[in-house]
Amino acid sequence: MSEVHKTLIIGSGPAGYTAAIYAARANLNPVLLKGMQPGGQLTITNDVENYPGFPDGVMGPEMMESFEKQAARFETVIHADTATKVDLSARPFTVETNLGKTLQAETLIISTGASARYLGLENETKLQGRGVSACATCDGFFFRDKDVCLVGGGDTACEEAVYMTHHAAKVHMLVRRDVFRASKIMQDRVFANPKIEVQWNTEVRDVLGVDEGRVTGLLLENNKTGETFEQKTDGLFLAMGHTPNTELFVDWLDVDANQYLITAPDSTATKVPGVFACGDCQDSVYRQAVTAAGTGCMAAIEAERFLEAQS
Ligand code: NDP
Repeated sequence: MSEVHKTLIIGSGPAGYTAAIYAARANLNPVLLKGMQPGGQLTITNDVENYPGFPDGVMGPEMMESFEKQAARFETVIHADTATKVDLSARPFTVETNLGKTLQAETLIISTGASARYLGLENETKLQGRGVSACATCDGFFFRDKDVCLVGGGDTACEEAVYMTHHAAKVHMLVRRDVFRASKIMQDRVFANPKIEVQWNTEVRDVLGVDEGRVTGLLLENNKTGETFEQKTDGLFLAMGHTPNTELFVDWLDVDANQYLITAPDSTATKVPGVFACGDCQDSVYRQAVTAAGTGCMAAIEAERFLEAQS
């Protein structure tokens, strides 16, 4: 631990890489830690259809490779490490990593994103990778001609349900209310797909199949009538939104009721001067790749201005 970096970026989604591109072009010589899911959530999605500049859409992983290349082109130092501990009590800030590095930096940009939400059922954990998955794109292939259930009613759920019909024989969407949260266009795609059946007011109470070592069915409840019933299925896909990855920072920074990092209005500044937060770990409202990139840009500009004011 000798060099004190000007800017250290934690996270490698659209926010982190955009912050890196801007910080590098401002001569801040940023160091970026890729983290547990290099490239972030877009690496486990299919087509990204709503990122401006790609009229025909772009595959998520391909887009994130381009982000990384662009950050590297301006000489961002990119490490594969995941941050495991931070000390924000004084500047320079200290960050320890899972690969044994201890890094110091004058400014810190947190862009750790968010992770898929699970139901929290014991058997859901036991059968993870044995029929339970939170990533249709990653695991859909294993369910060729099978019957699967997918929980959630947002855009992700609709997108993943449609994707799953390329593999599975039948997709049951289990929606806890009697309406979708998803946008109209995604709903229309679901309703137009004969392989998808929507089960409204339906919640998962248990995952069956622990003895068989794979998902064999679900115990479901109709939350309107209170009726519980077993439904045979080969897979349980979770598509219920995300939780921000902010655990490392809660001792140092303010978070809201849902654990999102709190920043000043119209800014990425946290309550610790020199620490900035951007992307899905800080944005509970928009949570889009393009807004994450936007706040990543803001964070880098704010880090640059902060350092300038110190000199
Ligand atoms: P959302 O938060 O929008 O939706 C989560 C869904 O999961 C809701 O239907 C919610 O139900 C349900 N849910 C949450 N917790 C539970 C639970 N414990 N049990 C059962 N159901 C549960 O998350 P998404 O990931 O769908 O979307 C996030 C953002 O990304 C959105 O802004 C979305 O528009 C965007 N997006 C855009 C895409 C595109 O344009 N192609 C593709 C994918 C995402 P309830 O509605 O009752 O709260």
